Amino acid sequence: MLKSFMFLFFAAIAVNLCPLRLSAQAKPGAASSQTKCAHCQKALTGYYVPAKNATWKEVPLCSECAMLPRCDYCQLPSDMKTDGGDRLCRDCAKDCIKVKSEAEKVMKDVRQVLNAKFKMTTKHKIIYEIGNRKELNLEADGEHNELGWFDPKTIRNKPQYTIRILTGLPRDVFRSVGAHELAHDWMKEELPHLMDKPEIREGFAEFVAWSFSKSEGNKRMMEYTERRTDDVYGGGFRKVRAMMGDAKTAADWKRILLKEFPLKGTKSGK
Ligand SMILES: [Zn+2]
Ligand SMILES: [Zn+2]
Ligand SMILES: [Zn+2]
Repeated sequence: MLKSFMFLFFAAIAVNLCPLRLSAQAKPGAASSQTKCAHCQKALTGYYVPAKNATWKEVPLCSECAMLPRCDYCQLPSDMKTDGGDRLCRDCAKDCIKVKSEAEKVMKDVRQVLNAKFKMTTKHKIIYEIGNRKELNLEADGEHNELGWFDPKTIRNKPQYTIRILTGLPRDVFRSVGAHELAHDWMKEELPHLMDKPEIREGFAEFVAWSFSKSEGNKRMMEYTERRTDDVYGGGFRKVRAMMGDAKTAADWKRILLKEFPLKGTKSGK
């Protein structure tokens, strides 16, 4: 599963709101047509508030726009909400995954990329679904703000694997959540004894999502993972990343995890 952590964005935004920063282009008091507010396009005259956009580049905001509610996935002002109640900026809203057939296509691609880059793969069929926040939270026994859910079941003695992801996520957020859930699918098959250790299960899934974002050169999604401060996801991620060192394939990750957490019945030092 993957929970959102929008509060961290609010923290980042609060930091941005404090210091009004001197623009590189404009001198104080000197009107400049060079620098425009990234939201309202008004020419900025000397001071702006820096914010990171959907591609994680720093852009200027005027002081009025800087006071508007911000996007949940970048730092731009937000005009709209998704069906799930998430705030999006115009940039992030341009390319969201809202249709099941598109979600399936994207998930198949993410699964293929994990195999190509890290040799991380499972052979079984996975059913891909999208769901609204209410549906995802219901599956998560009432917990809040789930972005994705990996659901392995046994139906008439046959295993069935489903991954459900929140509808309306920007494409790169969706892909990162997809990589996280596929990491659970792999762990369930390769290291099932670790599935009941939340810090390692979620930390490893975050590590896979981070490695995936890194391989795609996606700084904003790398930071999205790095900024987490909670014990299970943030603490787990840092613990697993430190453990992995330079190891780059799923086989190496498995070997390292098995050394640290041997199977039950074998001698364990931990
Ligand atoms: Zn998870
Ligand atoms: Zn503005
Ligand atoms: Zn945004």
